[in-house]
Amino acid sequence: MKTIGMLGGMSWESTASYYRIINEAVKTVSGGFSSAKICLYSVDFAEIEDLQRRGDWRAMADILSAAARAIEAGGADFLIICTNTMHKEAPAIEASIAIPLLHIADATAEELKRNGVQRVGLLGTRFTMEEDFYKARLTDRHGIDVVVPENADMDIVHRVIFEELCLGTISQSSRQDYLRIIDLLHRDGAEAVILGCTEIALLIQQQHTDVPLYDTTEIHALAAVNFAMGFSDKSL
Ligand code: GLU
Repeated sequence: MKTIGMLGGMSWESTASYYRIINEAVKTVSGGFSSAKICLYSVDFAEIEDLQRRGDWRAMADILSAAARAIEAGGADFLIICTNTMHKEAPAIEASIAIPLLHIADATAEELKRNGVQRVGLLGTRFTMEEDFYKARLTDRHGIDVVVPENADMDIVHRVIFEELCLGTISQSSRQDYLRIIDLLHRDGAEAVILGCTEIALLIQQQHTDVPLYDTTEIHALAAVNFAMGFSDKSL
């Protein structure tokens, strides 16, 4: 079994989900006391969130690249960055290490393609919903059309992530807002919706809607286990 390098803490609420999903999957496959080999570096999200608001992506790339190098030095065989948003700096982080990076958008796209989804809605931070680092990867590399909420709804989705979910708050009224927005994306032609922020599954799960959901935390975590276990195709 390969050692999984996890660049986490963004926020720690979702890194805890990754840690649980990865270990549960390894236990399912191998049984008994089996658990994943993990090298985790968890950053201080207050520093990252402050830099995001100030738009200093260069400083964030430096912090995360240094963390990735520490993970590599700690013995990880490959890296996952446990946030969609910070994949904006994935090219810089990837360039600073020799071990492979398992990109969250690629893992998600593979899952969508496996199920024949061609047009998908995307929920995430404003950075993820608006900018090209994520959407263009889905479209240009994988041929998947992406629809995002209208501006006022993007505000709601973004605000709930930072003011509630990253702080561990789960609110019924925010769940209703998200479900309304998911329905609108569906009416806009989205066959499914990507939960493109690693905290959203804390608020919305498949049981809440008939629209098929793609939880990037679970997909990315299971892709990491598949890779770590050396499964050539998707087994988990
Ligand atoms: N975890 C979130 C994501 O997947 C947001 C936190 C961040 O800005 O990294 O995008």
